[in-house]
Amino acid sequence: MPSVYNWQLGRGMRYPYEQASPKEQFAFVININRCIGCQTCTMACKSTWTFAKGQEHMWWTNVETKPYGGYPQHWDVQILDKLEQANPGEQRWTGTPNGNPKKPYGKFAGKNVFEVPHAVARGKQPNQVLGYLPPDEEWRFPNIYEDTPQHGESKPMEFGKGEELSGDKKHKAWFFYLARLCNHCSYPACLAACPRTAIYKRPEDGIVLIDQKECRGYRKCVEACPYKKSLYRGTTRTSEKCIGCYPRVEGKDPETGGSPMETRCMAACIGQVRMQGLVKVDKDNAWVEDRQNPLYYMVHVAKVALPLYPQLGTEPNGYYVPPRWVPLPYLEQMFGPGAKQAVERYRNPDRELLAVLQLYRRSNQIISRFEIKEGPKVYEAERNGKKYEMYDDTVIAFNRGGKEIFRTQVEEPVYIRPAKHQNSI
Ligand code: SF4
Ligand code: SF4
Ligand code: SF4
Repeated sequence: MPSVYNWQLGRGMRYPYEQASPKEQFAFVININRCIGCQTCTMACKSTWTFAKGQEHMWWTNVETKPYGGYPQHWDVQILDKLEQANPGEQRWTGTPNGNPKKPYGKFAGKNVFEVPHAVARGKQPNQVLGYLPPDEEWRFPNIYEDTPQHGESKPMEFGKGEELSGDKKHKAWFFYLARLCNHCSYPACLAACPRTAIYKRPEDGIVLIDQKECRGYRKCVEACPYKKSLYRGTTRTSEKCIGCYPRVEGKDPETGGSPMETRCMAACIGQVRMQGLVKVDKDNAWVEDRQNPLYYMVHVAKVALPLYPQLGTEPNGYYVPPRWVPLPYLEQMFGPGAKQAVERYRNPDRELLAVLQLYRRSNQIISRFEIKEGPKVYEAERNGKKYEMYDDTVIAFNRGGKEIFRTQVEEPVYIRPAKHQNSI
């Protein structure tokens, strides 16, 4: 059985195919702290790709309220529970988050969805992937438990003395919106499980697609995807999934004049919380250093964005800035051991991070590189017992061709309408 390297787990792992990597990898960073749960992203995808007969239940991207919501229902609890039952008490991380891009979160010492079937096979031919097929009723409610909070004694995130934001400790109820789509994983479980090799990962951008001519609707991908982002369509008897809006990523949309364009769900985001891009990876699928790429910066330099359930083992390429008001054990279960550091960093952003966060949704083009032009100090205060300074820096975004797409400032400019235009539109 070939072994591949999973940098999110900090170790090699079992996978049914040889190590391979795309030229560039489709990835995205969603800032949960600012998502308002408006579902504009959900509807942008739906109205573009899944409006046909037989696709009524298909939500390639959806926004669910955590901890109780899920589409299908309890998808994450169910797969985590299966892994725990197969490897009781051993699903843990060792080491500490560090600066090594080949193992930034330490090492996952437990077993993932590719490893459990082999561990429990006992001489029989194992399945390629641990999974389950949700029954129809679990797909019925795309937004069940919307805005339902968790109550109880769970303590909010614990920080050092004097580091709490005022009010943090008063809230015992919490929820947050988790916007999800296919993670175009580096080691897709859907692809590993397909007996007809109908699923492939594009060598140019790592987008994972199902060949509709080859698919016979066995639903092995639906069963295997731990994120449940491959869906079955009864009218065609094939499975379908997010296609990463590949014509846009290829630069086919006339709006960008040939330059890669962000997907529909990213571009439509009202809350300005979704950023999608392309990152360079090495032969192990670890990200090649590219400090001025905003995605690389947020994941590997600022370490403010983390993969969703990295312990499942597919090396998902969807990253999230974790919500700062949620109990740490929950965040660590969902995003791995880097959660505390990520929240601390987001709560106390330095000058560079604050500027990079302004890049969200100023353009539909994929940002390949950013530059920062320093501006004057505009604010100074004491926050969490520390001195805090804010600068009105300008951040400039460039597309793949090196052309400036836009520039924007940390402090939003104020324009005063001349008196002669008052009461006019
Ligand atoms: S999220 Fe699921 S459907 Fe998407 S690539 Fe990963 S395993 Fe496949
Ligand atoms: S990337 Fe495109 S196809 Fe995929 S969920 Fe977003 S809008 Fe839908
Ligand atoms: S459009 Fe943006 S803000 Fe609205 S639900 Fe989607 S991710 Fe959240």
